[in-house]
Amino acid sequence: MSDNIKAYNNVLELIGETPLIKLSKTVENFPGNYYAKVEAFNPGHSSKDRIALHIIEEAERKGILKPGDTIIETTSGNTGFSIAMVSRIKGYDCILAVSSKSSADKIDMLKSMGAKVYVCPANVSADDPRSYYQVAKRLHDEIKNSIYINQYFNELNMEAHYLSTGPEIWNQTAGEITHLVACSGTGGTISGTARFLKEQNPDIQILGVDAYGSVLKKYHETQEFDKDEIYPYRIEGLGKNLIPTATDFDAIDSFTKVKDEEAAHTARFISQTEGLFVGYTSGAALQATKQLAAEGVFDENSNVVIIFPDHGSRYMSKIYNDEWMQDQGFFDSKSTADQQHIEY
Ligand code: PMP
Repeated sequence: MSDNIKAYNNVLELIGETPLIKLSKTVENFPGNYYAKVEAFNPGHSSKDRIALHIIEEAERKGILKPGDTIIETTSGNTGFSIAMVSRIKGYDCILAVSSKSSADKIDMLKSMGAKVYVCPANVSADDPRSYYQVAKRLHDEIKNSIYINQYFNELNMEAHYLSTGPEIWNQTAGEITHLVACSGTGGTISGTARFLKEQNPDIQILGVDAYGSVLKKYHETQEFDKDEIYPYRIEGLGKNLIPTATDFDAIDSFTKVKDEEAAHTARFISQTEGLFVGYTSGAALQATKQLAAEGVFDENSNVVIIFPDHGSRYMSKIYNDEWMQDQGFFDSKSTADQQHIEY
């Protein structure tokens, strides 16, 4: 390539260094300043590009992966898309076991990147042979020259964020960040970012976001696994029905739980007010921030960074679909939808 041509060698060079964008209307009544770390600016449109690249490149460095080998993962969609994208560029086969709760858009997107997708029932326990964990493990045993990313139990997940998301936020805020609000699924994002930030300034408050129906908050508070906390919920990618070792619970100061309905409306509100088209868990993260602000957690000197994990395009058949919202009972009346959709 000529030195005069300003081009990237491939999309992988665009992973990371996502922008920090100041929020205005969504937070106008809260004290302090609020900034979104918008992970949709990664080429795979989510924070999971970071872990896919890091984990695969570590395996290459250790000589575990050679071109033509197979990469297997369980995923709610985003990690799968990122792994499929990295696999395309680097020449690996990609097999993904996903939950049937994942949106149709997400599953089609995985296929568009060349991945082979196994869709497994959502509401079975993690040790059920039909669960996506067990399906992935079995495929890994059966397929020679395969690696299993295992993001929930892989230290490198957290390390990816320790090495990238953490330093980026520290530099972008010139060390003036006071609070981090981040969703916890595998816990890799919040834990790795928190470890880095706490090393720079132990006073930074790390505020996790969890879902009603997930065990994480209760486990953080009691160190006990309470299966009564577990029930089905709508938000994808946030919360868990098991305790991931990719989460460093000691690095997190507290968890806030959010409701499906409020997170969905808040995500829509972010698009409509900030012009930022973000996913369901971004709504969850801002919803948690609102709840924390109402509890008086922030003051005039607060510089709050909220991680928005992915892009709204992944939820066209869900939170951005008025009929879906209505079917969930998330609209009191059709009036909001009717105001925007005029048949002429
Ligand atoms: N939001 C979305 C949309 C996700 O897919 C995930 C990952 N499961 C998260 C948030 C949580 O990130 P992490 O797994 O790093 O805790």
